[in-house]
Amino acid sequence: MNTALRRVVLASGNAGKLRELLALLAPLHIDVLLQSALGIESPEETGHTFEANALLKARHAAAVSGLPALADDSGLEVDALDGRPGVRSARYAGEGASDAQNNAKLLGELAGVDDACRTAAYRCVIALVRSADDPSPLLADGSWTGCIATAEKGAGGFGYDPLFIPDAMTLEGAPNTAGITVAQMDAAAKNAVSHRARALHALLAHLR
Ligand code: IMP
Repeated sequence: MNTALRRVVLASGNAGKLRELLALLAPLHIDVLLQSALGIESPEETGHTFEANALLKARHAAAVSGLPALADDSGLEVDALDGRPGVRSARYAGEGASDAQNNAKLLGELAGVDDACRTAAYRCVIALVRSADDPSPLLADGSWTGCIATAEKGAGGFGYDPLFIPDAMTLEGAPNTAGITVAQMDAAAKNAVSHRARALHALLAHLR
């Protein structure tokens, strides 16, 4: 990888996402600095797309730190809800909502929607900027399709994981024959196939 990118600020404040991103970045031997460790706060996510929000978070971290920055924006898009909660996934049930409140709201909105129509996808966009005003930021996208369960299952992961039943268990597309939720997968298995992993692989393919 480009030697200018050996030190990168990771612009994420969400503990669940940070854990996963750090595990995904570990094999790359990049010196990853957390924006929280540098006293950098996340900016308000005013964008209407994952791309816009990922980019504004990365540019903000680069502006404050003077270093290259990597940021992701991600969320859940449910077909029966016309793509909601989408960019509002973290605050679906209101500003500062807990995962449990967001999951309860999702179950409520999908009450009565039959199994065949509960299709959804996790999406992640990762942005990498070399500086705050980088004119050609790298953007990469990953999605992981599945459907929304009728009740929470499993204790792993974070966010909507107890409700998200993925179609594929591996990047090669091994089917989820047991119909388990992401919260029932172990962390390494999720990291190998998730929307974040897919976006990061796409970003690395751009960099190489
Ligand atoms: P962000 O911090 O604006 O990117 O918000 C991401 C939100 O999307 C999280 O707070 C979760 O609600 C949801 N989300 C993103 N990725 C995942 C995942 O891997 N599992 C469960 N929920 C996720």
